[in-house]
Amino acid sequence: MAAKLVVVGAGGRMGQRLVTLAQETDGLTLVGAVDVGGHPKQGTEVSPGVTLSDQFPETADMVIDFSLPEGTDKTLAFCAAQNAGLVLGTTGLSDAQKDALRALSRQVPVAQATNMSVGMNTLFATVGKIAKMLGEDYDIEIVEQHHRFKKDAPSGTALSLAEAICSDTGRDMSRDLVHGRDGKEALRKKGTLGMHAVRAGDIVGIHSVIYSTLGETITINHTAHSRDTFVRGALRAAQWLIGKSPGLYSLRDVLGIE
Ligand code: NAD
Repeated sequence: MAAKLVVVGAGGRMGQRLVTLAQETDGLTLVGAVDVGGHPKQGTEVSPGVTLSDQFPETADMVIDFSLPEGTDKTLAFCAAQNAGLVLGTTGLSDAQKDALRALSRQVPVAQATNMSVGMNTLFATVGKIAKMLGEDYDIEIVEQHHRFKKDAPSGTALSLAEAICSDTGRDMSRDLVHGRDGKEALRKKGTLGMHAVRAGDIVGIHSVIYSTLGETITINHTAHSRDTFVRGALRAAQWLIGKSPGLYSLRDVLGIE
């Protein structure tokens, strides 16, 4: 029998595509589409037999949450009460929410990723290794670009890239990450990791990692052409979680990327 799926943030840019593509995903049946009470599409049918609601349905086996951190607490409580698996794509979680997510993952299977695309998860696995191979004389800067509606900055994806680089090169995120540059005393300090956020138009998501030294530059670019790349990754994660043991899984686990 197909797992009963709830999408949280179902009226949003990601949520709407999740609701649509869930209909053609084997092993999942959409039973709930949750969004805030004031959402203009409240009460409308978003999928056959499913209307957008500010309430969770009575039962579910799996939840996919692409909302805002404000929504995530209710999602975690619902998953705990239902013993439902969770795919969490929402970025900008507080430390307390990250703790609550770890606690939930001791009870149910959870897949979390700041970026659900296969290509980006390949980069998560390699950007740190490249930094380590190039060595200390290469300056590293991350530039991310997103649409004008994105609330958090830098993107969760950019932070994950930074975490991977820090972890493989012995840098410390809290000490070495430098957000933007401004003013007369903005000279680059060796060993720092620059982070820059561009917000413009309807850019779905562009991430660049720049490795540069005197004489040469390597730039790795990832461009998301549409949100469906993340949506398909999230649905694949939900399928993969069915029947899995409790635990906090990454997209690399889901995709089998070493
Ligand atoms: P959006 O603003 O278009 O949609 C968010 C939706 O969540 C809105 O409809 C909003 O009304 C709803 N919402 C807000 N508070 C809520 C609450 N308390 N309960 C239920 N619903 C609530 O944003 P988006 O572009 O669809 O992105 C949503 C989230 O997904 C963001 O955190 C974004 O950073 C993240 N995201 C993650 C990935 C990934 O691959 N992991 C990819 C794209 C976006």
